[in-house]
Amino acid sequence: MCGVIAVSGSHNSPYEVYFGLMNLQHRGQDGGGILTVDNTRTGGFQLQRGSGLIENVFSERSFKNLKGTAALGHSRYATIGRDDPNLLQPFLDYGTGIGLAHNGNIVNFYALRDEIRESGTPPRALLESDSALILHILADEIGDKPLTTEVIFQAIRICMKKLVGSYAIACVTRDGDIFGFRDPHGIRPLVMGRKQTPEGDIVSAIASETVALSFLEYDELEEIQAGEAVHISSKGVVTREIIDQQSKSPCMFEWVYFARVESEFNDVSVYHARFRLGLILAEHVKKLGIEVDLVVPVPETSRISAVAIAEALKLPFREILIKNRYVNRTFILEGQQSRKEAIRRKLFPIASEFKGKRCLIVDDSIVRGNTAQQIVKLVRQAGAKEVILLSSCPEIRHPCYYGIDFPSPVELIAHERTEAQIAEELGADRVIFQTVEGLKEALQQNSICAGCVTGIYPTDIESGKQFATKRLIDRQVPAKHSSF
Ligand code: SF4
Repeated sequence: MCGVIAVSGSHNSPYEVYFGLMNLQHRGQDGGGILTVDNTRTGGFQLQRGSGLIENVFSERSFKNLKGTAALGHSRYATIGRDDPNLLQPFLDYGTGIGLAHNGNIVNFYALRDEIRESGTPPRALLESDSALILHILADEIGDKPLTTEVIFQAIRICMKKLVGSYAIACVTRDGDIFGFRDPHGIRPLVMGRKQTPEGDIVSAIASETVALSFLEYDELEEIQAGEAVHISSKGVVTREIIDQQSKSPCMFEWVYFARVESEFNDVSVYHARFRLGLILAEHVKKLGIEVDLVVPVPETSRISAVAIAEALKLPFREILIKNRYVNRTFILEGQQSRKEAIRRKLFPIASEFKGKRCLIVDDSIVRGNTAQQIVKLVRQAGAKEVILLSSCPEIRHPCYYGIDFPSPVELIAHERTEAQIAEELGADRVIFQTVEGLKEALQQNSICAGCVTGIYPTDIESGKQFATKRLIDRQVPAKHSSF
């Protein structure tokens, strides 16, 4: 998962991209980059990329070089080559004058890469990055043609024919234009917006989430549709075309965990979706006749669902699992043991409030179960009489091939286990998961990707199995998700 943002039409574009990335930081913390375009001079690209959080990659001094009327940014969540600076984005193709930032995962990457490898010696990034491969396909089709809308859309058409998987892409051109496109199933989010400056100029943007554009005060926000390509000139002229739309399958995990609660995805508010997930879970708890004293959220993502559960069950809502906000990168520690210790350092229970209580502990999801197991232990040590875990998300039993980092079924706590077995494994009195029907109802979508829950995926995944296996071998430090 990554965050992308492109802005065109303002000398503030580099700053807007920077502040946009700050609002997309939750989508990736491994590194980031900004590419700027000054279309008044030839070769007017400036690129800065670095590892770590956006605020550490860029300083005030960075913006002495990063000037232009268009800019493109990326915050990286690495699924492969985490520490490799060559894989940081945006990528730039000097030949065509196109910069690209990608969020998603190309399932048939290895097959496509091998085809390219057979025809010559590709650059190193191309061998390891599906995003570099997308830029390569675009550049190959465009060649030395002028960067008109027609030429760009034809190159996107070729991309959509070749690529299998998830891709939400933002690009900038040497002319200071921006363009974006989204895979035919719309698995990852992509939105666009525009606004008018006090001087009357039109500024346009494309970004992963509405929160980034709302923060920057864009006022005409629109979803880029599944399979749609959008080209926006530096003067703000917008051209849109549905290139190849198939059954819409937005990733359910965006609402459940990944997206910022202030965002909207597929025109459904993340906040409201999480609230409804809680209400539906509460109904389930009522039907089971479970009696408890408190509802406790696992910070941060589950808070909205937990509020809904507490309201619906008329129970006290207590934030008594306290997060140390300065310990937030559990995944940088190698090995299972040190990861567990990091989780323990990250969360602290207020023992006096847990003592003798029957507690409903609400989390957004239970994936590997490391966090859940530690939380149950902490809460029991704090004196809780009964611990029932509620998950806003159904059981994750299958890999994700579209960019979320849980590739191997054997790592998943729900893989080939019943609810009772999961509870036993986690040390809880009971574990209750959201149902798939409840999930669909809460997200208000006719069709979603819930492949990691059902094992039914919107695209062919056969070639992705090779990728998942390679990732598993490459990976030394698997967990990135707070609940993993
Ligand atoms: S498999 Fe799961 S995490 Fe991956 S895109 Fe589909 S719903 Fe999202």
